[in-house]
Amino acid sequence: MRQPLVAGNWKMNGSLDSINTLLEGIKAGLGEVKTAEVAVCPPFVYIPQVVQMLSDTAVSVGSQDVSDEESGAFTGEVAGTMLRDVGCTYAIVGHSERRSIYGESDEFTARKFAAARRFGLTPILCVGELLEEREAGTTEAVVGRQLDAVIELEGIAALGEAVIAYEPVWAIGTGRTASPEQAQEVHAFIRNKLAGLDAGVADKVRILYGGSVKAANAAELFAMADIDGGLIGGASLQAGEFLGICTAP
Ligand code: PGA
Repeated sequence: MRQPLVAGNWKMNGSLDSINTLLEGIKAGLGEVKTAEVAVCPPFVYIPQVVQMLSDTAVSVGSQDVSDEESGAFTGEVAGTMLRDVGCTYAIVGHSERRSIYGESDEFTARKFAAARRFGLTPILCVGELLEEREAGTTEAVVGRQLDAVIELEGIAALGEAVIAYEPVWAIGTGRTASPEQAQEVHAFIRNKLAGLDAGVADKVRILYGGSVKAANAAELFAMADIDGGLIGGASLQAGEFLGICTAP
């Protein structure tokens, strides 16, 4: 059985004050969370504060990105070793905003995936198609290509120790969620593709859905056979809404 994971991706939001309030709110409701593992991914600068505030809970902390390098002359980058040092256990790689706004390629994302693993972080690998790709019928080709870049660099076994997040780009921050059936179809495609290479990996890997998940639609999404939780953007910034999602599985 795969334990569901609900991870909040705060993106570039928050302040010392607002994060304090948000975490107090989340901590107050954690007793209601029975099945899911919970994680939050704050902006880099707030990670130590968040780790500290969550130290008496089972909530994990992740980063939203990670450098593909270890250390040295890479101005502006944050290394996996540093993230590990301050208490992160997860690192999101290949979020669609990194891919589309900052032009990060499949190969670059694969190198970040490898770096996260090398330094003891569990990568949360984001994959997903643009609206025009879905409309052109190329969803599986796109998601398959994004996965292949990682499999080619790191091997199939590495995916068994990672988390995959399927996030259709047209559903991110748009209020337009994929239907449970639409999401399940792609989750099943991903799991079947992995099963073709290694049945054990396919069985073990958690595949999260992301894209306009809220408390009101989480339960029906998480009820699908191949959806093992969610990567939550906007709704993870409100304690009540986030807790509503964490208690859905
Ligand atoms: P959203 O973002 O929940 O605001 O749609 C999800 C994500 O980008 O991870």
